[in-house]
Amino acid sequence: MAEALMKYDEAIANFDPVLGLEVHVELGTNTKMFCGCSTVFGAEPNTQVCPVCLGLPGALPALNRIGVESAIRIGLALNCEIATWCRFARKNYFYPDMPKNFQTSQYDEPIAFEGYLDVDIDTDEGPKTFRVPIERAHMEEDTGKNLHMGGATGRIHGADYSLVDYNRAGIPLIEIVTKPVEGTGKYAPEVAKAYVSALREILRGLGVSDVKMEQGSLRCDVNLSLRETPESKLGTRSETKNVNSLRSVERAVRYEVMRHAARLTAGERIVQETRHWHEDTGISTSGRSKEDAEDYRYFPEPDLMPIAPSREWVEELRANLPENPAVRRTRLTAAWNISDLEMQNLMNAGVLELVEAAVSAGMNPDAARKWYTGELARVANERGVEVEELGVTHVELSRIEALISEGALNDKLARQVLDGLIAGEGDVDSIVAGRGLAVVSDDGPLIEAIDAALAADPAVVETIKSGKLAAAGSVVGAVMKATRGQADAARVRELLFERLGVSE
Ligand code: ZN
Ligand code: MN
Repeated sequence: MAEALMKYDEAIANFDPVLGLEVHVELGTNTKMFCGCSTVFGAEPNTQVCPVCLGLPGALPALNRIGVESAIRIGLALNCEIATWCRFARKNYFYPDMPKNFQTSQYDEPIAFEGYLDVDIDTDEGPKTFRVPIERAHMEEDTGKNLHMGGATGRIHGADYSLVDYNRAGIPLIEIVTKPVEGTGKYAPEVAKAYVSALREILRGLGVSDVKMEQGSLRCDVNLSLRETPESKLGTRSETKNVNSLRSVERAVRYEVMRHAARLTAGERIVQETRHWHEDTGISTSGRSKEDAEDYRYFPEPDLMPIAPSREWVEELRANLPENPAVRRTRLTAAWNISDLEMQNLMNAGVLELVEAAVSAGMNPDAARKWYTGELARVANERGVEVEELGVTHVELSRIEALISEGALNDKLARQVLDGLIAGEGDVDSIVAGRGLAVVSDDGPLIEAIDAALAADPAVVETIKSGKLAAAGSVVGAVMKATRGQADAARVRELLFERLGVSE
């Protein structure tokens, strides 16, 4: 059932939106948070389980050190304070995908708290930075997965029966919760999207997660409330769950602003509830009425020791954090003398790291960008894989570039070398030799091919001699064809004009 909506501009003219974002990120550890089970995605259901993550009687958890280390690094990258002492807590509720009947989480003692993340958005007055305050980042475990079978939608309604896969139960999660984000005004949807995007970039830079929203390794819940003025107290919020693309984050905020405004204007109350986002129709529908924290009867986890990260460890992790992504982008944009748009293209193609590695190994930045955003991105896209999965290294690209600048390869031949590399035919030099790809630099065979082309099209001789030099293109093309692309086109052109006594 569609709910009443108020136009966005009208809603914003009458109300002040306040955002809250909760992001769950699945860590890329090899094993689960409290047991040694594998975390590899896509395995047969219930093959990555053990007594601990199935909650069998008597099984005891053992904490994953890398999980804690990742949580601290995430906290530091988000400008948080790191707890000197904290504990896990049991969050008690029943759900079939959670075999222990409680989730091991953190409650009033999160490992990281009081941070912020600055995000940049385009406003009517130009680029502007918003500071998103972060309340906490805490450690917890993922649940299993319910699969509802037999229905049309994959949802429980209309399903014939349900199955449970516990492979995901116990995979480490970090939940990052913002404070109420105020002062965004009409830019609330853009700020929400920019925040999730910036967060994803930071997490990727830390190497703690593959942050694939479509596979659920980064999941976002969007809280929104409206109030009459920025001075009024906070209104009742709704929480839209599992908004799983950047575009949907923006749309879900916009939708809730319009829905809340219509209800409030009609004199209705906002119900505190969770809502389901529907990607296809771009609307959300009511879920369950939202529990408060006290409903979960949290209490400290008795089976795990408190965590007291030493200050030496925390400082060592801080000293080894990667450069902040925004700072790094600005630095590389200047160093490579490229535009913001060109930097954006590198980001969109997902090849910034690859280009940076190539350049720091001595490759020319323009050449590196050309290969990674051009030919390699095209092939990767065709095959539905990431560029790095093609297995072409910058050492090989540099070798191809060197052969091009020596005149031993032209662009067309270079692409064939690349095909050979992707097909695993060996290194650049052996592919050049094996496929016979060197440019024909000896004038003899070129002159023969030119004469043959002119003999096949005698009229072109007069055309060129009369000054219509553009006609030379067809002769050069014929020679390139005859030499299977292995001629140097510029040299063919030179020889042709020499032969006809024409000067350029
Ligand atoms: Zn296990
Ligand atoms: Mn959570």
